[in-house]
Amino acid sequence: MAENASYFEIPKTCKAGCVIDEGPNFRVEVQDVPVPEPGPDQVLLRLNATGICYSDLHYMLNDLGFGPMSQFGVRSAGHEGAGVVVKVGSNVTTWKVGDRGGVKPCWNCCMNCALCWDGQHETYCEKGLQTGFQVAGTYQQYILSPANYTTRIPDGVDDFYAGPIMCSGSTIYRSLMESRLKAGDWAVFPGAGGGVGHMGVQLAKAIGLRVIGVDGGDEKRELCVRLGCDAFVDFTKVNDVAAEVMKITGHGAQGVFVTAGNAAAYASAPGMLGVGGKLMCIGLPPAGSCIVGAHPAEFVLKNLHVIGTKVGSMKDTDAAMDFAARGLLKPIYEKFPLKDLPAAVDKLRAGKVAGRCVVDFNS
Ligand SMILES: [Zn+2]
Ligand SMILES: [Zn+2]
Repeated sequence: MAENASYFEIPKTCKAGCVIDEGPNFRVEVQDVPVPEPGPDQVLLRLNATGICYSDLHYMLNDLGFGPMSQFGVRSAGHEGAGVVVKVGSNVTTWKVGDRGGVKPCWNCCMNCALCWDGQHETYCEKGLQTGFQVAGTYQQYILSPANYTTRIPDGVDDFYAGPIMCSGSTIYRSLMESRLKAGDWAVFPGAGGGVGHMGVQLAKAIGLRVIGVDGGDEKRELCVRLGCDAFVDFTKVNDVAAEVMKITGHGAQGVFVTAGNAAAYASAPGMLGVGGKLMCIGLPPAGSCIVGAHPAEFVLKNLHVIGTKVGSMKDTDAAMDFAARGLLKPIYEKFPLKDLPAAVDKLRAGKVAGRCVVDFNS
């Protein structure tokens, strides 16, 4: 977007999607909240866009067993924000006003422990803070971000692409890398038309995998074909999804990437895999609702591996952003004006979103 001088004037208050009645009956209301002042090592971002991720709903529903957001004084969820630096703290030398930056699900980590040093596990740091849960999230237009942990947005990637890549794109990139699948291997995406799944399909194709999309309905089928899926299985039309996957692959897939946070997706995954296959756990079902697995014989006789991955690291996010800059990753999104942020949350909650809902803070 074109930024003029007034774009950088910092108001006293800004709009934010705030949670009301956290728990099973929560709702979101757009309110005015104070614009925060950056600390010495922080930047203040003016967000142009935020994606709406199912994890936001988990935090607002308080169904993961982590306790409510309010225990940290947080009212705004969201962790897929893209915008521009409008103020920098007194110690910050690496960012300047006008630079494009974004925040991820992991807001900060200590950068001073073995997990933070190994280049791929800093999001598991014991001192890490989760955006939109432990600190104010990207449903708030002006937010703080630690200078050293803010992601740069490259030229050629607009904010409506960059937002969803901060979580969904980066998260599925991490899982794909950790699966170590090779070009020509079969990768199955249950929930292929969803926010994380549809980016997984594109990245999987970009690294040479053969892709089977699993989802329900013609709209999702059309989306999956458009994204390059080699095959599509409609779970509303077949009795046994795993049997269909076996039919397509011959001996089973090398990887199943479970991005859907429901028990059915996790239950059917082992049956789709061939010998040595990887069951990649990504989607988070509500606490107590599901266990990954099958009879141990299924794992023994097929040498199956189960691997969980959380969100992408700083490095993963950068790599995913680079795929977008090269035109190989194009998040599909539906744009909502700020006043309709609550409607976008409700739409995701109802399971009616193909791709991602992204809120435009400037409309
Ligand atoms: Zn997310
Ligand atoms: Zn650490």
